Amino acid sequence: MVDTFTQKCTRCGEGYPRRKMVGACQKCGGIIKISYDYSEVGKTLDKKKIRGRPFNLWRYSELLPLSSAENVITLGEGGTPLIRSERFASKLGLRNLYFKDEAMLPTGSLKDRCATVSISKAKEAAVKSVVISSSGNAAASMSAYSARAGIRCLVFVPSSAVPSKLLQVTTYGGKVIKVNGTTGNSVKLAADATRKFGWPNVSTAAVYNPYALEGQKTSAYEMVEQLDWKTPDWLVIPVGSGNNLAGHWAGFSDFDELGFTNRRPKIAAVQAAGCAPFTEAVEKGSKPSEVQAWENPETIAGGVRDEFPYDVELALPALRESKGVAVNVTDSEIIETMKGLGADEGIYSEPTGAVAAAGLKHLVASRTIDKDELIVVMVTGSGLKDPGSLSRHFPEPPVIDADINHATKYLA
Ligand SMILES: *Cc1c(COP(=O)(O)O)cnc(C)c1O
Repeated sequence: MVDTFTQKCTRCGEGYPRRKMVGACQKCGGIIKISYDYSEVGKTLDKKKIRGRPFNLWRYSELLPLSSAENVITLGEGGTPLIRSERFASKLGLRNLYFKDEAMLPTGSLKDRCATVSISKAKEAAVKSVVISSSGNAAASMSAYSARAGIRCLVFVPSSAVPSKLLQVTTYGGKVIKVNGTTGNSVKLAADATRKFGWPNVSTAAVYNPYALEGQKTSAYEMVEQLDWKTPDWLVIPVGSGNNLAGHWAGFSDFDELGFTNRRPKIAAVQAAGCAPFTEAVEKGSKPSEVQAWENPETIAGGVRDEFPYDVELALPALRESKGVAVNVTDSEIIETMKGLGADEGIYSEPTGAVAAAGLKHLVASRTIDKDELIVVMVTGSGLKDPGSLSRHFPEPPVIDADINHATKYLA
């Protein structure tokens, strides 16, 4: 926790004091970029020092936008496993495949990285209430961390949100309001609430909240460490808003700037075929300003059902700079992949959590990815988040009397 960062608008250059919690630029509405003085950071942070600290997200505190350690709100987040794939990989003919299992974070999804940084910043700025729009996971994360910080968390979700996720939010003390229509409507309401009441908008997109991305990037730091300071050849990642993609790119870039690594991965973005504005933008070669909202978004993967990729301004240039690609997957491919992750690897994923892994098949079939390349695939949310999603896809288990002869029939 050293004051190695600045908060500045990417559009007009307006700067903000370190202790202030900023959303979008108050002057022009531009995205706030948090930058680090790498030569200062390098004075206290090196590979050996990092390794000597507890394996959680705050071990990278010199690269996080907080002024004092006493404001950290933590549930032990970070340090998620990087699991080497055996059976799932060999079915695809891949030799160097890993899953970064973000389902292992405290509330069961990657959004805890966003929440620990955002809510710690809110504590530092003495904020009393925050507001968020979310399909459920970010709301659960923000509510949990807000509970620990004694901050009120108001949540707008699309009415299609999964009930089990809303129950999680409510249990953490978050106040849930369902909004009719698509994600865009709840996104609009959260922004309106910030304008009207002044509560910071902690939605996990840099256009509203620059701290979410600062949390996301730590997963990139972790995987580099877990690969013994090697950068993967490919990062395969699901895209909704694109915040997660942009965050990882920032993380790989930080480690390059610090001299811990000397290259960045190619990024494969994966979207659901029923809601794929980002893939379309990549394929068409669109500028961020030309990207259109998707009409009638429809997919089982609620966490990426964003009709508009809110962080397209950051995510699209990042993907292009990485020389990456974007592919789509169908709902039935997502379901097959959830089963495969479970039965082949012991990983229980929610539909959105399996989107990236589902994209692998396409990337291998098109020979975009080479079988010997080092690949990290993000698993972003736990199956426990949305336990009903597979119920129609497995047969009911048999019910028998307590007699081994009955059991034998089924065990053969
Ligand atoms: C939010 C979310 C994503 C998508 O991340 P973006 O930053 O919106 O692109 C992926 N998986 C899960 C489980 C999520 O909750």
